[in-house]
Order: sequence, then structure tokens, then C-alpha cells
Amino acid sequence: MTDQNHPEPVDAPARPSGDRTIDFGAGGSAPFGGLSIVGDGAPEATPLAGGPSVAVADGAPVETKVLIIGSGPAGLTAAIYAARANLEPVVVAGSAPGGQLMLTSEIENFPGFPEGIDGPELMNRFRAQAERFGTRFYDLDVDRVDLSTRPFRVWARGQEFVGQSVILATGASALWLNLESEQRLRGRGVSACATCDGFFFRDKEIAVVGGGDSAMEEANYLTRFASKVHLLHRRDGFRASKIMIDRTYANPKIEVHPNTVVAEVLGDAFMDGLRLRDARDGSERTVPMEGLFIAIGHRPNTEVFRDWLETDEQGYLTAHEHTASRIAGVFIAGDVADHRYRQAITAAGDGARAAIDAERWLEAEGIAEHATQTAW
Ligand SMILES: Cc1cc2nc3c(=O)[nH]c(=O)nc-3n(C[C@H](O)[C@H](O)[C@H](O)COP(=O)(O)OP(=O)(O)OC[C@H]3O[C@@H](n4cnc5c(N)ncnc54)[C@H](O)[C@@H]3O)c2cc1C
Repeated sequence: MTDQNHPEPVDAPARPSGDRTIDFGAGGSAPFGGLSIVGDGAPEATPLAGGPSVAVADGAPVETKVLIIGSGPAGLTAAIYAARANLEPVVVAGSAPGGQLMLTSEIENFPGFPEGIDGPELMNRFRAQAERFGTRFYDLDVDRVDLSTRPFRVWARGQEFVGQSVILATGASALWLNLESEQRLRGRGVSACATCDGFFFRDKEIAVVGGGDSAMEEANYLTRFASKVHLLHRRDGFRASKIMIDRTYANPKIEVHPNTVVAEVLGDAFMDGLRLRDARDGSERTVPMEGLFIAIGHRPNTEVFRDWLETDEQGYLTAHEHTASRIAGVFIAGDVADHRYRQAITAAGDGARAAIDAERWLEAEGIAEHATQTAW
């Protein structure tokens, strides 16, 4: 999970997987491949493609025509496009380089990989491709920006970056219940993405946690695969719209459990049950269950930009024309502005659009030469 509070040191030879150790041990029989994050800072990282990030030796500002913040599918696709347009982009990749897909495995819906591909491997291929065309990476979290004048200025742990244009691709983080057992079994039955992982739960009995429209949408969607879906909500009433509540209650494959809290996810190698608590009287019961989808919301990673750019009521950045923000020269891509699709392919598409928009804007401003509009 993204940890904004523990960035890599500036001069550390950062790994594309950040500080995580990735355990592929459960193999292909696990629901979505059995990937789990087993610890921070362990010495043996999974060997990954892509080179190290650039160390800043003298603390001088790093200057570029295209400064990209974030290194998920959106940021890395923007980097590939900008690099191939000879714009020599710089990516401030975050302390969790690679983004959300570093925390999952067995991606089966990204085109080009008919056998599926592990999330970290896919992201390292993105990164290696961006590096191949000359992108420089700094695995740091941006903590301050000044978008008041051009060139734009951005700081990460005291290091200054100066960009003639900026592409914001800092994504969003799924919210979790933060139970130890939930984190341990993430990727082993526990997921935060029904569109991504529902397919793995064919004919299984599963649960969805949440009380809003997203939880109800996910519960209904998951009935395409699961034999039964239990919707668990800690309160009596739901935040969801009436139409979604009605649709959920009308679905014969969904059983709704108000006043129900997940106390523990059960299972060793894989999830096999839930310990549930009644929110009214505290009584507990254990039920067999093969999957758990957490649908309690996402938090867009927009804190550092909120003083400068428009956000919607949920805190997502708002693009104005195509990928352009309200500040000329600042572009937006991926889940940081998208709470509708939230997919790697749509984020990557946004990254390509933002890079093309940035290049055209730089050209119009006379900062970049007429380049590659037909050579993408
Ligand atoms: C469990 C799970 C499984 C999923 N499975 C699939 C799947 O099978 N298929 C699919 O298509 N999609 C899947 N998704 C969704 C997919 O991961 C996202 O839609 C996609 O990663 C969004 O890409 P992004 O580049 O916009 O943002 P992200 O991937 O969120 O990347 C954001 C990047 O910005 C960085 N960042 C954040 N804040 C800062 C900062 N202040 N400074 C610098 N950098 C910063 C982060 O470190 C990260 O590198 C899954 C998501 C989850 C949570």
C-alpha cells in the first residue's frame, strides 16, 4: 500500500517495488495468484526489471520540460510518450513506485497478455520501457508544489524539481478495514476491486463490505460470478441511492446483513471464513466464506495539489479540457481524477493523452519543437 510517510532517501538506489518484499509462494492455485506483501524493508527484493532511480548528488534543482508526478500506469505511460517525443521527462515516482498494481497479481484484463501477468511485472515492464527512451526517475513523494508561475516548482524531501509542464498522476488509494487478517489475506481471497478480481470467484460464496453505491454496484456485479453475495454493513441504514438499494434487495443472489462488522478474516494460506460481529449487541459468529471485497471507498492522492487545483466533492482532481487542468501547462491523468473506471488500461490511456496534450502545449508555447504528432 502507498506509504506517503516513509519515502526512500534521496540517494538510495531505489527499487521499482519500493521497500516491499513480494511473496509469490502461493502459486497459481490461489485466488488471483496468491500474491501478498509480507513485509517492509526486507533485504531480498524480488528481482525486477527496470533500472535504479537517479540519485541527486548535489541537491541542485532537477529541470525538465515534462515533470510527471506518480509512477502507476498513468504516469509511466505519460513518460513513455513524452520520452519518445524527445521531451526527456522526469518522473517523481513516489515512495510506492509502480502504484496500485504493485499490490496485486494475475492481471487478466490488460490487453496483450493472454496468459495474464503479475501486477509488479507489468509495472516493471512499463518502467523499463520509459527508461529505454531516457526517462529519469526519482522514487520520492512530492510534499510541496508551487504552480503559481512557470516553470512550475515541486519539492520532494527538500529536492527541488522544475518543470515547464507538469503531469499529475498520483492515483488513488483503496480504503481498507485495516484488520491485520485482512492485510495478511489480501490477494488470497481479499480484494478491493470487483471489476479486477470478480472473475476469480466463480461459483463461490463471498461477501462485500460497504453501504454506499459502490458497495451495492460491486455486490450486484459480483453475482455474475459468485454463487451468493453477502452484503455486510456496519449500520442499519445505507448511504446508497434508493435505486441501488432497491436493486440490491431485489437480487435473489444477494443477502443483506445490516449492523454487521467484520471482526476478522479467517484462513491461513487463503481466506476461508469470516468472524462477524453484531454492531448492536457485540455478539459474534463465524461463517465460511471464500472471498471478501472491501468497498468502503478510495482516497485520491491529491492533498498537495488541493490549494492549486479544482477538486470535486470527493477530492478528485477535475480536468477542464481533455487532460488540461485549470492551470495552463498542468495536466491530469489516471485515477487521481477518475472514480468511474479505475482501471490500469484507462489510466494508461489517460497518461498517453496527457503526454500528447503536454507536448502540443509546449510546442504552442515555443518550448518544444514541432515533434512527433505522426510518430507516436
Ligand atoms: C487490489 C487491486 C487490484 C487491481 N487489479 C486491477 C486489474 O486486475 N486490472 C486493472 O485494470 N486494474 C486493476 N486495479 C486498478 C488499477 O490498479 C488502477 O486503476 C491503476 O493503478 C491506476 O493507475 P494510476 O497511474 O492512475 O494510479 P496508481 O496506480 O494509484 O499510481 C499512483 C502513483 O502515484 C504515486 N504517488 C502518490 N502520491 C504521490 C506524491 N505525493 N508524490 C509522488 N508520487 C505520488 C504512487 O506512489 C504511485 O506510484 C486494481 C487495483 C487494486 C487496488
